[in-house]
Amino acid sequence: MRKHIVAGNWKMNKTFEEADDLINDIMDKLEGLTLDRNTELVICPPFPYLEMASEYGDESYFAVGAQDVSEQDSGAYTGEVSAAMLESLELTYCIVGHSERRAYHHETDEIVARKVDQLLKYNLRPIVCCGEVLQEREEGRQFDVVKKQITDGLFHLSAEQFANIVIAYEPVWAIGTGKTATPEQAQEIHAFIRGLIAEKYGKEVADETSILYGGSCKPSNAKELFANPDVDGGLIGGASLKADDFIAIATAF
Ligand code: PEP
Repeated sequence: MRKHIVAGNWKMNKTFEEADDLINDIMDKLEGLTLDRNTELVICPPFPYLEMASEYGDESYFAVGAQDVSEQDSGAYTGEVSAAMLESLELTYCIVGHSERRAYHHETDEIVARKVDQLLKYNLRPIVCCGEVLQEREEGRQFDVVKKQITDGLFHLSAEQFANIVIAYEPVWAIGTGKTATPEQAQEIHAFIRGLIAEKYGKEVADETSILYGGSCKPSNAKELFANPDVDGGLIGGASLKADDFIAIATAF
């Protein structure tokens, strides 16, 4: 049975002290709570806090992920962080191809593919983001856009490699805007993505792939989004910065 995953993308928020407080708050709230045994909680803080989060993660119930990685292995790439470095912190996940990186850092599907290769080389699980912008949705092109992102970013992998991939469908028009895809819109495109995976790698691989929804997911809408058969959890931005909201979403299955 594929995993339910609720991953918090903190983006560029929190000082060190605030990050420490938030992690402790999340851990306190998790005490005595029984999460669905099939649900994995992931937090993705900024790079400087990964070591701290990873140390807490050892004792608690969440896995830790980075928000980005270099497409290069090592060397003279000032400011970059390699997959080998992330592996040495014993992280589990790394987000790749977030729409903010695609928009502000010109991250193409080819770059996403190289980052995915780096992560797999160092035993990290990529959470690969895809999703259309508003104009593409209005023109009815969301399926073509997502198909291209998935095909060009991921379909060079073997089936064995693909088994480590988590996909996050994040309609760009719903990220940080308060607009959420309806449960029907989310289910429709998640089922489409699973169908693409089945065509390429077979039904068994597709059935085991966790496909998360992201875009203004909050406690008030998580339940109806997660109730869909092809929605296996969420990539949560704003609402992951408050322990109460994050835990409420994690318990919405
Ligand atoms: C995100 O950036 O991955 C995201 C889903 O953000 P928000 O939940 O704030 O829309």
